Amino acid sequence: MQDKDTNISQNTDSYLKYVNDWEQKIGSFLEFDIERTKGFSKLEGPLAGIPFGVKDNFAVEGFDITCGSKILKGVAAPYTATSVAKLQDAGAVVVGKTNLDAFGMGSSTDNSAFKVTNNPWDTERVAGGSSGGSAAAVAAGLVPFALGSDTGGSVRQPASFCGVYGFKPTYGVVSRYGLTAYASSLDVVGVIAGTVEMTRTVFDIMKGQDIKDNTSVKHPGSRNNGDVKKIAVLKVEDGSLSKDVEDSYSKSIKRLEKLGFEINYIDLPSFEYVVPVYYTIATAEASANLARYNGLRYGYRSKNGNNPGEIMQSSRDEGFGDEVKLRILLGTYVLRSGFQDQFYHKAQKIRTAMRNEFDKIFELVDLIMMPVFPTAAFKHGSTDLDPFQQKVADLYTCAANLTGLPAFAVPSSIENGLPVGVQFTAPAFEEDRLFNIAEVLEAEFPSQSVEGVKNWSKV
Ligand code: GLN
Repeated sequence: MQDKDTNISQNTDSYLKYVNDWEQKIGSFLEFDIERTKGFSKLEGPLAGIPFGVKDNFAVEGFDITCGSKILKGVAAPYTATSVAKLQDAGAVVVGKTNLDAFGMGSSTDNSAFKVTNNPWDTERVAGGSSGGSAAAVAAGLVPFALGSDTGGSVRQPASFCGVYGFKPTYGVVSRYGLTAYASSLDVVGVIAGTVEMTRTVFDIMKGQDIKDNTSVKHPGSRNNGDVKKIAVLKVEDGSLSKDVEDSYSKSIKRLEKLGFEINYIDLPSFEYVVPVYYTIATAEASANLARYNGLRYGYRSKNGNNPGEIMQSSRDEGFGDEVKLRILLGTYVLRSGFQDQFYHKAQKIRTAMRNEFDKIFELVDLIMMPVFPTAAFKHGSTDLDPFQQKVADLYTCAANLTGLPAFAVPSSIENGLPVGVQFTAPAFEEDRLFNIAEVLEAEFPSQSVEGVKNWSKV
């Protein structure tokens, strides 16, 4: 739907005022400028004139790329990520870069070096993370969609906290050229949007093999036209979900039953290992990927130090935040000489076993349903969930990254004034099944908007 009020090109001033008013409350963008990259977008195409936000760990020529970290403050992106360029070719316009946990490390966006992002539903709460800026911007109606990266849930979890759609494709299906690496065997480009149709359209435009990303693959298409009949529902142990999420999960199950899907309850024994395996692999890869930020080539350079070694040490010490340092240390620890078998290689073996477990289940069902996160949006600071508990809570989202499978977080209900989502996982390359189930559920329960939200359409 598009009315005069919500067409930016006819109403730039009121759009900018709208953005400004919401930004005072939520702080979702690190940079915002609707004119800056307009010249890079085609004037026609399926997304002609549609504004979008891009997480600040993607390169977009015209904007900086800080990854939410002081170590990259003021660094201008020298080129544009393939995913973003494809959307510009389809007519969409980047209006700004969204806030994130530094380098994608976190579940709250509180680990950004630059600003706090609040949840539009309750500004005392986090928008989730690490793509919290993207989710908050979409939920507040500042943009119809935004890009995020998902290494362990960073698109799905904030989408769920903000009441919008959060989509993670099969590993390799969308080019990562121009996306800053966190953990390369887990990272994917994902979409956050207000509707299933928008999510599907954006994904369809972005997917495809890219000569500039040798981990990218050609999408072979769905094997069964995306048909969904049988759904496995993960049994969740008593007490592992908050009351709100438990209630919401039951509502989703009832909705599926009412719609006539065949439901099978399942256990996933490997879930016990998901979090330790994820944090072993993610930190090991992060410690290698972040070695390039040395204060010498680009980005923040410390004034302390008399030789390159000392300058490098103090630049990293002053430029990285605590969470990033913790993860580099952990990664270095699990990779240290003589110990790879004990940690990293063992984690890789469990990872393979997990994928086999999922594949077995998919011989019997079309999709697996599970929660997104054990709680709704939590409060800033460590009062609700401390940083360790936040990591433990990643178990439902990390599984899709470890297995490489596509997953979709869709709005499920509003509980005590906060949105809660539910997650579907499909076999590799079966994104169509995810869109199809989400469309059926959207007809029953569409994404809800918090008061005062308008949907702006075109720039
Ligand atoms: N919460 C996860 C982490 O902190 C998610 C990261 C992500 O997907 N970028 O690692």
